[in-house]
Amino acid sequence: MSNLYQIAIDGPAAAGKSTVAKLAAKRLGAFYVNTGEMYRTIAWACLKEGIDISAPEKVELALAKWTMTFQNDGNGEIEIVFNGKPVVKAELRTADVAMASSNVAKIPAVRAWMLQKQRDCRMLGTIIMEGRDICTIVLPDATAKFFITATPEERARRRFAQSGEVAAGATIKSVAAEIAERDKQDENRPIAPLKPAADAKVIYTDGMTPEEVADLVIATFKEKAKL
Ligand code: C5P
Repeated sequence: MSNLYQIAIDGPAAAGKSTVAKLAAKRLGAFYVNTGEMYRTIAWACLKEGIDISAPEKVELALAKWTMTFQNDGNGEIEIVFNGKPVVKAELRTADVAMASSNVAKIPAVRAWMLQKQRDCRMLGTIIMEGRDICTIVLPDATAKFFITATPEERARRRFAQSGEVAAGATIKSVAAEIAERDKQDENRPIAPLKPAADAKVIYTDGMTPEEVADLVIATFKEKAKL
């Protein structure tokens, strides 16, 4: 690929977006950008520093002192560098950080702080960027846009099977409730809500393997890019 392209993927929690985006990025030689990790980083930092995330002005004050940059991790993905130090991804994958990330993502100042940084990722090369508002807000001119989803039951099963992300003692039922609460909040916030872009291809992934979904993403992208 000689031109630079952007593939944008949105969808609810635990829909398998990251798995598919990583697979497609590897096969296309593109760079994988996970914007959920950026919001999780802010949530993680607030929890660590005891900043009250229900007080937007306190988070905004902290943001003025914080820096976030991205670097190539040498493995086809971005590494988030927060206040000069690479973020440890495993620390972002807890149930507490997941819910807190949805709370900080509602704060307009947080989204404004993030937007240009995310758009600047285009300079890294051809990218596959996933999140909640990538097709609608961050990369409205992306080459190909997708909304990847699955039934709540299937998503709860997928999340439950991921180690780390679920709290000790969690059940499929409690994981389903946590996901539903986070999706509801992401869908109903006034700014950059989770919703399929009018021109996104919606993929219902129940009964599909990640490879099959990646095949569909790649075929649709190639058609749009006329490759
Ligand atoms: O994708 P992930 O589950 O890691 O995202 C964590 C949270 O970050 C989401 O629940 C959502 O509130 C927020 N987010 C967002 N916009 C994005 C990506 C994530 O608001 N583009």
